Amino acid sequence: MRNEGLGSWPARRARKTPHRTALVHGDTTLTYGELHARTTRLAHALRARGVRRGDRIAYLGPNHPSFLETLFAAGMLGAIFVPQNTRLAGPEIAYQLADSGAKVLVYGPSHAGLVAGLPGSTDVRVYLEVGPEYEELLSGSPDEPIDEPVAADDTCLILYTSGTTGRPKGAMLSHANVTWNSVNFLIDKDLLADDRALVSAPLFHIAGLTVLTLPVLLKGGACVLVEAFDPAATLDLVEQHRITYMFGVPAMFEQVARQPRWPDADLSSLRMLSCGGAPVPTPLIETYQARGLTFLQGYGMTEALGVLFLDGENSVAKAGSAGVPMYFTDVRVVRPDLTQVEPGETGEVVSRGPAVMSGYWGLPEETAAAFADGWFRTGDAARVDEDGYVYIVDRIKDMIISGGENIYPAEIEDRLLAHPDIVECAVIGVPDEKWGEVPRAVVVPRAGATPDPDEILASLSGQLAKYKIPKSVVLADELPRTASGKLLKSRVRKRYGTNS
Ligand code: ATP
Ligand code: MG
Repeated sequence: MRNEGLGSWPARRARKTPHRTALVHGDTTLTYGELHARTTRLAHALRARGVRRGDRIAYLGPNHPSFLETLFAAGMLGAIFVPQNTRLAGPEIAYQLADSGAKVLVYGPSHAGLVAGLPGSTDVRVYLEVGPEYEELLSGSPDEPIDEPVAADDTCLILYTSGTTGRPKGAMLSHANVTWNSVNFLIDKDLLADDRALVSAPLFHIAGLTVLTLPVLLKGGACVLVEAFDPAATLDLVEQHRITYMFGVPAMFEQVARQPRWPDADLSSLRMLSCGGAPVPTPLIETYQARGLTFLQGYGMTEALGVLFLDGENSVAKAGSAGVPMYFTDVRVVRPDLTQVEPGETGEVVSRGPAVMSGYWGLPEETAAAFADGWFRTGDAARVDEDGYVYIVDRIKDMIISGGENIYPAEIEDRLLAHPDIVECAVIGVPDEKWGEVPRAVVVPRAGATPDPDEILASLSGQLAKYKIPKSVVLADELPRTASGKLLKSRVRKRYGTNS
């Protein structure tokens, strides 16, 4: 058998376009030919250190070419790549290393301190620090082709979920899952070999890795890797690298548009703005529209990768929708008994297709609970219109039930964000004797503003049904978010969800 997986991509690309740029990081540029040679050398080095098919290789560090080199090298050997969320604390990383049984840990120099403090109880036997040690290893290894059979259905990636609703779970994704997902994006987005993508979303998350970077590399475009998202630097990078394609969660695009030099920034190179991970607030769409830019919107998750996609052409007519299923993906919105909802009715999104994971690593019960009749249950609530466009409403777990009415906080948050003095907000349910639960708004005011809670509530009247209008408003300095910028509702609830 040949290598049917991700590990063969650098060789295939190097055969076609060896001199084109694959990766840019600071002052370093790697062509596809160089990426192929470096990846092959790393694979030899890892094999010499005992790595075999099915072994787990973890990576801990900010966006850097070595992340992708390690991913592809693992793929060449039939090993499984396990990227770590860089925002996690030592014990959380130790848990994931032990949970995945990783044998190798490749880490960035900024994480050397954390790695030194890791307990010896994990299975990690090989520690490799990116920098001089890593470079020496590569230059001391051969670059003859690696001839290891790898099947498309072999697991290539254990990707941990964001941990928004609980402890992160490791989704087992195969080479086929990742490849079909990339094909979906190549069909649904009009990616070109000349595209230059700005990768400031973390590579350890599906957005940075499987939505943005891998489809671009499959097509032969260039990825500019940025270690940490910085809204001011983003505008500079767009100008400096003539970026054509950007991806972010709404919070990232919001911060960019709040930069003082936003009005003067040269955005003329930008061709595609893509947003996902959370509903895109309408005011944000309008801010970018005023600069002649439309959002491609998407909906997906670690377990099923890209699921829904809304193209630029329909972004206005179908504003608020996450679109229709990606090309090779099937999506339904269903009632608890799995029958499909009528247009306008709210149900759960379920998905199936070649990009859906085989299960959660080491969690057979969670895996069984996540599938029904071959469909992956997303845990997200949505509606469908007559044309089949899906509107994500909110997470089912975040729903507030007040006097028997279901309230989805996202709808209220969308209205609150239209208030000129509010930059961030979260709506949660708080216990109420009469109604069971009532909504409460936790809002972060614009710098220098001290909005009056009563005025905020008054601005919602007439916009929302009465039972959806929060009964209280709390002002906060900031809201807890995951590494990828998502609201940690459970923490907001813990902190602001009691009446005391
Ligand atoms: P965990 O599963 O550990 O609680 P998580 O669900 O946030 O964390 P991810 O897989 O990173 O982990 O995120 C997928 C989720 O993000 C989706 O299930 C959905 O709730 C939300 N999401 C993604 N895209 C969109 C979108 N376009 N609109 C609304 N919500 C979205
Ligand atoms: Mg999830």
